Amino acid sequence: MDMTADRMLTVEEAQEIVLDSVSVSGIERVPLSESQDRVLAEDVAPRFDVPPQDNSSVDGYAVIATDTSGASEEAPCRLEVLEEIPAGTVPTAHVVPGKSSRIMTGAFLPGGADAVVMVENTRQHAEGVEILKAVKAGQNVRYRGEDVKQGQRVLFSGTEIGPGEIGLLAAFQRSQVAVRRRPAVAILSTGDEVVEIDERLVPGKIVNSNSYSLAALVRECNGRPVNLGIARDSEAEIAKAIRSALSADIVLSTGGVSVGDYDYVKKVLEDLGADMRFWRVKMKPGKPLAYGLLQGKPFFGLPGNPVSCMVSFLLFARPAMRKMMGYSPHDWRLPTVQAELENDLTAGGDRRHYLRARITCTEGRFYASTAAGQGSGMLSSMTGTNGLVVVETGITSVPRGSEVQVLLMGAAGQGAAR
Ligand code: AMP
Ligand code: MG
Repeated sequence: MDMTADRMLTVEEAQEIVLDSVSVSGIERVPLSESQDRVLAEDVAPRFDVPPQDNSSVDGYAVIATDTSGASEEAPCRLEVLEEIPAGTVPTAHVVPGKSSRIMTGAFLPGGADAVVMVENTRQHAEGVEILKAVKAGQNVRYRGEDVKQGQRVLFSGTEIGPGEIGLLAAFQRSQVAVRRRPAVAILSTGDEVVEIDERLVPGKIVNSNSYSLAALVRECNGRPVNLGIARDSEAEIAKAIRSALSADIVLSTGGVSVGDYDYVKKVLEDLGADMRFWRVKMKPGKPLAYGLLQGKPFFGLPGNPVSCMVSFLLFARPAMRKMMGYSPHDWRLPTVQAELENDLTAGGDRRHYLRARITCTEGRFYASTAAGQGSGMLSSMTGTNGLVVVETGITSVPRGSEVQVLLMGAAGQGAAR
């Protein structure tokens, strides 16, 4: 165990230690339809121009623009019609002066033509078509490669694949894409007082909520949660459970990392030869937090208190998962905004506090309204909230109207019903 393990670290120091100790996961190829929310592990360029040929952006007539100069309702210009070009067909005739071709939206622009007149600006005529409005060269034409040129890299490794990326990859005929592997995250709850969700709740017991909230957080990060259930407060049982967790890429435990008589997680980790990096972080909620590498796998001994457990996950395990999944460094941590505080608040002043708050955005300004109950066990403060207001060490009160720093847990205004 190195010297830093005993010292109480700042959140930033602890995050740096965690992030330095994990590396990017391997790559796998998946069908495009299964790639949503995954992180691209290759730069992508199309093998052909997109769109693949010049085409019409309207229904109308493909013309030579100079043929239409001066055309108006009163003085239309008359053009012969060579053929009709529905979308998906190849034109057969070359457009020459005095001639045009009827063309549909998306259809291949015929050779010779350099513009398209919208059908709304034309009139049928026995010997062809009357153009009622002049067009300029290039008007209503979508040029070959104007979206993306052959070989032009437009999607980059580290990009999260969303609907837009999926559409573009489909347009490139990429039916398979290389993405980062999703880490398997083992979740182990510890504690003699903890019972399963469907067990009888007898006096002295509490329900295991941590395994569920953590699995949800892991899923939200696109990881694969593996539930290992509950280990009793015994060294043997905890050691057995932790050993079985090592087939995962990351291990999360909850409870048993504080200074109580039955807090065995630390002892077990040391006995198993873990390379422990720290035990405590200067923050509330969530001071007890064990972090180390066990057989090279990141191990987070999260606190048992339900809110501490979730906030510690968001501040430490989530960034580690995002680094492993190939995100770029500026996407590892929760995004930060400045918000106007809508209520007075108080804090202990002894360490940095993260207060759960509802963040809204009105006319370009963020507002933060902190939840009433801020206890580390008050799980209700994690509902209807989507942000964490940061209150630094030494500060014991912040008046309403102040500018505060907020970490966003979800999009402002979303998931935070009034
Ligand atoms: P510990 O860190 O083991 O001292 O636990 C701190 C607090 O968290 C205690 O009040 C525990 O009852 C509670 N706790 C521990 N594990 C869980 C769990 N899996 N679900 C909900 N609460 C828990
Ligand atoms: Mg316990």
